[in-house]
Amino acid sequence: DDFDPAEYEFHDEEAEAAEPARLPLVAVVGRPNVGKSTLVNRIIGRREAVVEDVPGVTRDRVSYPASWNGREFTVVDTGGWLPESRGLAAAIAEQAKLAVELADVVLFVVDATVGATDVDEAVVEILRRSKKPVVLAANKADDPRAELEATALWSLGIGEPLPVSALHGRSSGDLLDRVLETLPEPAPRERIGEAPGGPRRVALMGRPNVGKSSLLNKLAKENRAVVDSVAGTTRDPVDELIDLGGRTWRFIDTAGIRKRHRENQGADFYAILRTQSALERSEVAVVLVDASESLAEQDLRIVNNVIEAGRALVLAYNKWDLVDEERRFYLDREIERQLVGARWAPRVNISAKTGRHVEKLVPAIDTALESWGHRVPTGKLNQFFTDLVSSHPHPIRGGKQPRVLFATQASVRPPKFVLFTSGFLEPGYRRFIERRIREEFGFEGSPISVTMKIRE
Ligand code: GDP
Ligand code: GDP
Repeated sequence: DDFDPAEYEFHDEEAEAAEPARLPLVAVVGRPNVGKSTLVNRIIGRREAVVEDVPGVTRDRVSYPASWNGREFTVVDTGGWLPESRGLAAAIAEQAKLAVELADVVLFVVDATVGATDVDEAVVEILRRSKKPVVLAANKADDPRAELEATALWSLGIGEPLPVSALHGRSSGDLLDRVLETLPEPAPRERIGEAPGGPRRVALMGRPNVGKSSLLNKLAKENRAVVDSVAGTTRDPVDELIDLGGRTWRFIDTAGIRKRHRENQGADFYAILRTQSALERSEVAVVLVDASESLAEQDLRIVNNVIEAGRALVLAYNKWDLVDEERRFYLDREIERQLVGARWAPRVNISAKTGRHVEKLVPAIDTALESWGHRVPTGKLNQFFTDLVSSHPHPIRGGKQPRVLFATQASVRPPKFVLFTSGFLEPGYRRFIERRIREEFGFEGSPISVTMKIRE
């Protein structure tokens, strides 16, 4: 029939040339039980209430994508992460400091039915010193009377308290309007402080004790770049510029890697938040695992986070100096079985301690970044699909045989493919397609996605 592929050429060159979006971050801060989680649920439109989460259970994410009036941002939920009673004020102060450090806007939640407490005032002190924009939510203003009480919160001295009811959704739209007004303009490149063609951004990731800070020390030693000599970079105290293989690289949030936090429940929260925000700012993640130990659940979660975030990925098996023949045997099987979803990631076996093969990181990172930005020309892609569909057609289901009519790579960084089909492609067939795309075009070190659009 009259299917016209040209209609479906839709990549946006300008958007692709831009840095990957670093969404503005809104941190929701406040005492326990003021309704932070309830409010976050409302903002992100989440059905199941996090409020019912079992306290103390490890969550593996603390920030969530959200949008309002077409504007996208990230919300950080600090609810449920504070130690029970001991040192409450100190813990909240620390939470506020962190929020201030990472967030673009702080959404400070106070319980309007209780009014301002000493702890609230301590937080205000920190927020005020930081000069970060703050939106004050007077929550639990469920009715007009409570709304009136909320005006008492003017006394905090950080602007107009906005009465809301997170539970009933009352005025939460107004609150989001206010948050949006306060958000900085989306200018990721400026925010990250990078001119086009500036240093590529690398995040070192991995669970505690895998050797991140050892590796960082090894790399930075003698290779630390002089900031002034790197064109187009602004100083960002949490990052470090390191010269490797004749080029300068930006290692993201090295302050977070070096900083040792107290071992408490809150520490998990900080670690996770830092990891997530480092990932968002990076282009490629080097995930370290401890080669001398079995892979842990947490290792797999970190790898998955990188893939879900759509960043390029390199796996670094550290502490290779501790690996013997026997361990190596199990290691290969472990990787084969547990890291199937990341089989495409380049792997380097290193020792941050002895320096063994550390120089192999740069070529692996280069490979991953190159794949991440790689585009398959539409003509070539469609030739590939024509051949694929004739040699391996979709199985016939109910007398019908869905076909791939046309394919295009809709984006790079990461590469995303869109298939226009005459019917629903089974998941198995889509996985087969993804495998074949990798066999044909490579994409070593980059996640790719394949989605379909069914043409009725
Ligand atoms: P968090 O510790 O600050 O995250 O607070 P939660 O979101 O867990 O809420 C604490 C309690 O306050 C829960 O029982 C909520 O149902 C309740 N709550 C939250 N928002 C409101 C509200 O707007 N009005 C009322 N009446 N209760 C609320
Ligand atoms: P981080 O928590 O991921 O930053 O890990 P660290 O860099 O603090 O390292 C944790 C421990 O592992 C320290 O005692 C390091 O000396 C040790 N370590 C790190 N890399 C290696 C390595 O390649 N080989 C050996 N044997 N030990 C290492």
